[in-house]
Amino acid sequence: MKKLMLTLTILLGLAAAGEAKIKVVTSLSDLAEFTKAVGGDKVEVDFLVRGSQNPHYIEIKPSYMLKLKSANLFVTIGMQLEIWAPQIIDGSRNPILIVVDCSKNVKKLEVPSVKVDASMGDVHPFGNPHYWLDPENVKAILQEILDNLVKVSPADAEYFKSNLKAYMKKLDAKMAEWMLLMSPLKGTKLVTYHTSFSYFVERFGLSVVGYVEPKPGIPPTPSHSTELIQLMRSSGVKIVGLEQYYEDNTPGQIAIAAGARLIRLCTSVGGMDGTGDYFQLIDHNVRAIVSAVKGS
Ligand SMILES: [Zn+2]
Repeated sequence: MKKLMLTLTILLGLAAAGEAKIKVVTSLSDLAEFTKAVGGDKVEVDFLVRGSQNPHYIEIKPSYMLKLKSANLFVTIGMQLEIWAPQIIDGSRNPILIVVDCSKNVKKLEVPSVKVDASMGDVHPFGNPHYWLDPENVKAILQEILDNLVKVSPADAEYFKSNLKAYMKKLDAKMAEWMLLMSPLKGTKLVTYHTSFSYFVERFGLSVVGYVEPKPGIPPTPSHSTELIQLMRSSGVKIVGLEQYYEDNTPGQIAIAAGARLIRLCTSVGGMDGTGDYFQLIDHNVRAIVSAVKGS
């Protein structure tokens, strides 16, 4: 009996090992969705930053190191969006951890032409890292995730590829829908709090002409707000788009003074009600802008 039990335990153990999933931790909820889309049932995915949090600044918890300790991959946006990542990576003491930088093949915007220093605020030194909000850039992200999943499990390459194709097909279909909704809005100007939507507006032919922040990462000042209101009036800006994690007091006052509408835009999956996946996230932003333009 004892021998049988032992054999059973070994067999069950082997079966479990055979089904071992690739453990992936991502920085953002969006990357978790993309990783699940490609990895399917071969991956176990967890993420660090909740959709409602400001991804630039997070409080580092010991549990983050623990998550990375047993992970195969850590999937990141890169371009120093996650300035807090190196501390977690070091703290995880995981020698086999592969850190994936999804920005590798993305065409980068707002790359500083001069050396960045503290007087410029928290300027992203490698350019604007908020590229995941352009749905076309998701393709480069998916490819980077696929390449790295294949490194861990080459036998599953075909499976990952077909998953990627299926997600891409859905993305293309939604993209056509978004383009249709946004095409009458070409040239629409808006103001946002931070530089979160540069890639998004470029894709859809809109433009962000000013920011509530005087400099990236620096809270609003009265003199900057006054200048911004003047700029909005003179250039006919009717929309202030506010990321889900910023306070609405100053942006709200700016919007009123400039005769504009304040709308909440969302930067990450799960950051607001009705943004449970990436398609809903982009849907939310597209619809919020379309209805603000219609209403003004
Ligand atoms: Zn930023």
